[in-house]
This record gives sequence, C-alpha cells and structure tokens, in this order.
Amino acid sequence: MNWKLVNKDPATQPKGGIYSDWKEQIAKECYYQCVYCSIHESQFGGINNFHIDHFRPKSLFKNLENDICNLFYSCPICNRFKSDDWPNEPNLDTLSYADPSNIDYSDLFELNDDFQIFGKYTASRYLEVRLYLNRAQLIFERREEIKVRTVTVLMKELADLIDRVGRDDLKEANEAYKSLISIQTRIQELGELRKKIRPYELKDIRKK
Ligand SMILES: [Zn+2]
Repeated sequence: MNWKLVNKDPATQPKGGIYSDWKEQIAKECYYQCVYCSIHESQFGGINNFHIDHFRPKSLFKNLENDICNLFYSCPICNRFKSDDWPNEPNLDTLSYADPSNIDYSDLFELNDDFQIFGKYTASRYLEVRLYLNRAQLIFERREEIKVRTVTVLMKELADLIDRVGRDDLKEANEAYKSLISIQTRIQELGELRKKIRPYELKDIRKK
C-alpha cells in the first residue's frame, strides 16, 4: 500500500565485503520496508527479521550475488515465497517479477472494498499470487490505514458542518468534537511514528 520506487545507483556499490555486510545500506535504500508487500520492518521485529532479497536469484545469476543493484530489502515471508523463482525477465505483460527499482509498485495494483489488491498487469497478477499479497496480515494493515484516513476525512467534514451551523448553538457537540479530534490526531501521529521509528539497528545488537 505504501510502495516506493527504490533508487538504485551502481555508484553506491560498496568497495568491500559481501552482500550480507551491506544490510543497513540496503534497508535504508528500500525505506526500511519490504519492496514487495511494503510492510515496514517495525511491523516485523526489525532488521534482524528482514531479509536481503536477490532480485535475480543468486542460484541463477551468480555474477549478481554481490551487485548492489540486485539487492533489495524484503520481509521473510515475501523472500521465502519468491525464493529462486525466476520465470522470465521483467516485463509487465509476461509472468515475471517487476523490478522495484524500475517501476513504482503503487502503479501495479488496484484495491477493492475488501482491502484486497489485484494486479493490473500479467506481471503484477503473478506477484499477487506468488507472494500471496492478500495474506491476512497485509489486509489488516491496509484496513487499519484506510479506516484511520476515512475517520480523518469525516472529522474534517464534521468540523465544517459545526462551523456552518454555528458553534454557539452546538456548544456541547463542539466540545465533544474537540476531544475527539485531539484523540484522533494522536492516533494518526502514533501510526505515522510507528512507521518511522526503527526498532533497532544492526550495530545495536552486535554490541557485546
Ligand atoms: Zn513482504
């Protein structure tokens, strides 16, 4: 739901080490969220529970095993479902995986009233099915986010209505409304904050 196009630049290729040494860099490049289902690492116990995904599987593309442009941040569920699967080179009209550094995944799916997403293209339908992008946890996340957004819009409409009718005539309603909006604002802030606060960094858990 909150997919973001990942900016991959060969110039950021680390000078030493192997892919597993670069997890923090890869996490940051991918906005600390799974490139496939968009779940944030904070919803999954942080970086240690997240995986480094080889977009082109390392079993088939040995030369790309340590190529920074082939490495993405993935939740363990998407990573395990994807595994070594590589049906075709990326192409929206064929069974294949869309490259998260080439295409904004937000453009690949539609959402229905049951908070399920549907791929608009052959490639995104493949993603939806192979990575099980309508699993219960993801539907719950979408539902929560959309409900919070809907309440915010309704409260804005209510505020406008109270303004139109006249605050003096609706003193009690206005007081209740003010309390409600303050709680709602706080809930929304907490939701946003949860997506920004990293549970921990790798350096924190490597301390002796
Ligand atoms: Zn995922």
